Amino acid sequence: MTRVAIVGGGISGLTTAFYLEQERRRGVPISFTVFEAADRFGGVIRTERIDGCIVEAGPDSFLSTKPWARELCDDLRLSSQLIGSRDEDRKTYILINGRLEPIPLGMQMMVPTRVGSVLRSRLFSRQTKLAMAREYLWPPQPLGADDDESVASFVSRHFNSEVVDHLADPLLTGIYGADASALSVRATLPLMIDMEARHRSLVRGALAAKASNPASGAPQPLFTALRDGMQRMVESIIRHVPREALCSCRTIEGMNAQENGWQLRLAETTEDFEHVILAVPAHVSAKLIGDLPGSERPVELLSEIAHSSAVTVALAFDSSAIGLPPGFGFLVPRRESKRIIACTFVHNKFENRAPAGTALLRVFMGGSRDLEILDLTDEQITKIVRTELREILNIDATPQLVRVFKWHKAMPQYGVGHLLRIARLEMHMQRFPGLHLIGNAYHGIGIPDCVRAGRAAADAIMRRMRSQRALA
Ligand SMILES: Cc1cc2nc3c(=O)[nH]c(=O)nc-3n(C[C@H](O)[C@H](O)[C@H](O)COP(=O)(O)OP(=O)(O)OC[C@H]3O[C@@H](n4cnc5c(N)ncnc54)[C@H](O)[C@@H]3O)c2cc1C
Repeated sequence: MTRVAIVGGGISGLTTAFYLEQERRRGVPISFTVFEAADRFGGVIRTERIDGCIVEAGPDSFLSTKPWARELCDDLRLSSQLIGSRDEDRKTYILINGRLEPIPLGMQMMVPTRVGSVLRSRLFSRQTKLAMAREYLWPPQPLGADDDESVASFVSRHFNSEVVDHLADPLLTGIYGADASALSVRATLPLMIDMEARHRSLVRGALAAKASNPASGAPQPLFTALRDGMQRMVESIIRHVPREALCSCRTIEGMNAQENGWQLRLAETTEDFEHVILAVPAHVSAKLIGDLPGSERPVELLSEIAHSSAVTVALAFDSSAIGLPPGFGFLVPRRESKRIIACTFVHNKFENRAPAGTALLRVFMGGSRDLEILDLTDEQITKIVRTELREILNIDATPQLVRVFKWHKAMPQYGVGHLLRIARLEMHMQRFPGLHLIGNAYHGIGIPDCVRAGRAAADAIMRRMRSQRALA
């Protein structure tokens, strides 16, 4: 019997557990245990149902274009639960000099594809509109194949610093909680790098992609969610896995190497396994492998992956008491000097998130630009949010519900050189057979990427078991 330990019961670790369970049911001689430090599973995925609202404390959806989370939902028989974002209402605003300006139609991230809507937009100055035309006609030299640079530098090279400040930085801060000047363009915008390599001009590349993909039939929604909330994925995995395999309130404190595997140290005991999957943030993995002989370089590389913290605040209002613009919400550039990074109009983005007549807002704060927010009380955070919502949206009404959620060091920052760092890390980890690193710190921060990594870890264990059987 091969024994596997999965450390961390977020979506990454739970996905591995689910796919190992499929193998166990097929008769593969394997047992596994998920060790989760908290008193609940799901990690940052957490849904609360409050006063008829579906409140997402962490992620509210996943990108539809990345198939792995949808495939997991299919395997969990949750396909009928999947709902798409209401893209017919999709409109996102950027706060510029205190006013909400819509992102022009046809923008693909920071790349324009519709001349008319960009010309009419007040989001960009005349110089920026000229810079966009110039990029089409005289694109810059592409990035060297072995080079990396920050998103800010990449976008400035193609357009200018206004596109960084008004679009790239707010968009990326909303996803990674980090500045565009710190994030690796190769790790966070691989499609743009590909476009640059093929067309030099991002505008030409985006137009070519649009032309080769003419809208036929109903387009895929940009975001996919679960009707009852994202936690449904977690609950469903838990139902598919034997109860005795799931141990909550069990913090792993360290590891020792053994002749045929690994020993995990818990508060009052130790347990032995052939495989250990570390599905925890990189800073936790660095601590856990710190006592293993020869782990100095991997620990160093893991410690180089910085993590920022996030705060989300859910607020519900009587919709007749507030006047919201149509759309999915707004982003706030750094220079507006607000603590709100982004705000989603949840009741517009997905159906059934709030009862009729209720507006449900979800505010993001924190990230690397506001490390102090986590030290504030829920009351202090609520006060700041209400003040800023009054300034931005003119909301004076008292919310019917407010919930504050804090996520401490949960968002990895893919700094410049991230891909090379991870390649080196994986090379050094080959010295530790049976020890696997998964989670959001390496090959993608979104739920689909975490699911893909979780499934790949289960596949790797199966491959190793097969090759060991073949050698025996
Ligand atoms: C506020 C927020 C909003 C997001 N929004 C989106 C979104 O809309 N769409 C999207 O695709 N992605 C989103 N993400 C990103 C995505 O949700 C996460 O990257 C993903 O869920 C991480 O899953 P994970 O299992 O790798 O890590 P986690 O969910 O962080 O799980 C790690 C688990 O390990 C446990 N643990 C830690 N140390 C130990 C230990 N020593 N022993 C045992 N257990 C331990 C923790 O308690 C935790 O449960 C968001 C993230 C945040 C924070």
